[in-house]
Amino acid sequence: MSSTLRFQVVRGAFNKKPIPVPNRAERPSEFFGKYVFNRKKMYQYLPAKVYKKMCDVMDNGDTLDLATANIVAEGMKKWAMELGATHCTHWFQPLTEGTAEKHDGFVEHDGKGGLAEEFTGKQLVQQEPDASSFPSGGIRSTFEARGYSAWDPASPVFVVGDTLMIPTVFISYTGEALDYKAPLKKSLMAVDKAATAVARYFYPDVKKVITNLGWEQEYFLVDEDLYAARPDLVMTGRTLMGHDSAKNQQMDDHYFGNIPGRVAAFMKDLEIKALELGIPCKTRHNEVAPNQFELAPIFEECNLAVDHNMLLMMLMRKVARKHGFRCLLHEKPFGGVNGSGKHNNWSLSTDTGVLLHAPGKTPLDNLRFVTFLVESLMAVYKHNGLLKASIISATNAHRLGANEAPPAIISSFLGKQLSELLNHLENATDEEIINLKGKQSLTLDIPQIPEILLDNTDRNRTSPFAFTGNRFEFRAAGSQANCAASMIVLNTAMAEALTNFKERVDKLVEGGTEPMKAVLKTVREDILTCKPIRFDGNGYSEEWKQEAARRGLDVENSAPLMLDNYLKPDTIKMFGDMHVLSEAELEARTEIKQETYTKKIQIEARIFGDLCLNHIIPVATKYQSQLIDNVHKVKEIFPEQTAIKVSANNLALIERISEHSSFITENVEALIEARRVANKIESVRQKAIAYHDTVAPLIEKIRYHIDELELIVDDELWPLPKYREMLFIR
Ligand code: ADP
Ligand code: MG
Repeated sequence: MSSTLRFQVVRGAFNKKPIPVPNRAERPSEFFGKYVFNRKKMYQYLPAKVYKKMCDVMDNGDTLDLATANIVAEGMKKWAMELGATHCTHWFQPLTEGTAEKHDGFVEHDGKGGLAEEFTGKQLVQQEPDASSFPSGGIRSTFEARGYSAWDPASPVFVVGDTLMIPTVFISYTGEALDYKAPLKKSLMAVDKAATAVARYFYPDVKKVITNLGWEQEYFLVDEDLYAARPDLVMTGRTLMGHDSAKNQQMDDHYFGNIPGRVAAFMKDLEIKALELGIPCKTRHNEVAPNQFELAPIFEECNLAVDHNMLLMMLMRKVARKHGFRCLLHEKPFGGVNGSGKHNNWSLSTDTGVLLHAPGKTPLDNLRFVTFLVESLMAVYKHNGLLKASIISATNAHRLGANEAPPAIISSFLGKQLSELLNHLENATDEEIINLKGKQSLTLDIPQIPEILLDNTDRNRTSPFAFTGNRFEFRAAGSQANCAASMIVLNTAMAEALTNFKERVDKLVEGGTEPMKAVLKTVREDILTCKPIRFDGNGYSEEWKQEAARRGLDVENSAPLMLDNYLKPDTIKMFGDMHVLSEAELEARTEIKQETYTKKIQIEARIFGDLCLNHIIPVATKYQSQLIDNVHKVKEIFPEQTAIKVSANNLALIERISEHSSFITENVEALIEARRVANKIESVRQKAIAYHDTVAPLIEKIRYHIDELELIVDDELWPLPKYREMLFIR
């Protein structure tokens, strides 16, 4: 792009007006879920008996027989066609991080030479998309490319545009999961089973434990025309070069600031569409970096929340374009300002209340609270390395450990009061804490846990896993990641911790210990065991890195090496014992993650090399020639001594440009060579390591010199939109 074009584009972006989004006549409560085949629609469109059967399928996991599925499909088709749907698709979450869909029209031959609209139970329940082009990590060689997708009735179908979308799991014919949803659902079953058993110590009537997830989605918006002028953004989702803008986030004036007009219109449009699709949007605000924003819904059951997050990301990208923006979900689209994450607020609740809800009214409630709190810490402690592996990617690696949330060590923040409570439980004796006089008169010397926990003011923003009143907030997930990746690990680890806890309690009870005393004794043991994971200090400090290593926490900061945690014996045992993922599935997933890591950096290196050689170097050379020209002319009209003085500045510039340019040219060569060497490596793991160790650092090293050139080369000539132009569009 020539510079005049750059100026035109920038001017155009500044002058754009908000695209008006008219107010709706109905209130959100009225149009919420308009395009979702939820219980209300089922009740309306299905015969009473079939509706009841569907409730059993959704609530109790009953299997759906084909006869029922046929009737359900008929009702769905009627409803969807009334909304203008002509197609349907199974919508699934392959291991590519995005979602996948393949549309089929409702049409069939009617047997009289014409067509009829048809949608059968079989089409609803199962499809066979050609699985060969999705990553499978060697589970399914391409010649047996068959995989199938199967409807997940726990997540309702919905209509987008002219298509009926059916959320599904995606599985190979030999039964291995090829997606995120299948293991997520298994992990949710595992927590349900383990947590229900433990919850019954306190409330014998508990039937079911539900996992809740409330995600907060951060994102950037950038003007579409400026985006189009940045090949690096288009190809990789982030800017690979660009000097800091003089002003960026140092004034803290963007965070919670007034929302710019064009953005406000986008948000309104997005929220309406999301609400219509049943996503309970609640919060919107500016984030820390310029052009960075956040959307958060009300929390929901984890499986549904994951689907809703995937759907929202899809909507964000679509709606942004309507408003002349591109939505950037990359974790670090711009150097020098904050990146984007996805905070996963996680908790467990029973059919009667939240298990992690802080202030218990009775001693029993308090012990229940402490039990679930401590077992969550046990889960995170035991699998802290794996939890980190679950959120790492080539893109999130730019955030992790880079002095912005979160640090590259997983630890948990509880706040002063809870820490004191656990310390008290650790140090007092059983007799000091518990007093059992018959069933009714249990007293516990657990200090009253105050209500103010609920609006905890001493929030530690540096903690990757912070307790915030009635939930843990896992803040390390990347903004574009599928929430399920980390939820699978967290849920399974929790299921394992609770199962293990119950085994030990039951053993004590069998030996004659009173149940509540057995619970307390076991909790106290675990408070001590998981102590190393508790950290309330500054997660960015150098001292913490050393202290964490001493505590035996995972301090690895190379992304490919973090992935090794997926294949450690403890991990394989945990996933196996909890029936969530087999060893073969773990191997396949790890390989896919390693491969994806390599490919992302490979693409970055390629486009970066191109930009260096055909954008940056030619412009630097052109400017340098202009300067040289000037020096010659000065020499023609001034005596030699004066000429040297007059040209001193330009001569110095010519030299600096030369130095930066040669560094760039030489190291682009080195970058190509590093790729060549890495590409020859057979082992998928070793290749990823080579890309991490040799290719990625070169990109950063060269970038520094490009950014320096940006500062000295004539602004008229600079071909790429600059940070100050991209980050302040309103
Ligand atoms: P903050 O930015 O202060 O962390 P937000 O209001 O942006 O808070 O987001 C909090 C998220 O946590 C929301 O999605 C909210 O619904 C969710 N949340 C609240 N309580 C729970 C809970 N018990 N379990 C899971 N998520 C919860
Ligand atoms: Mg938050």
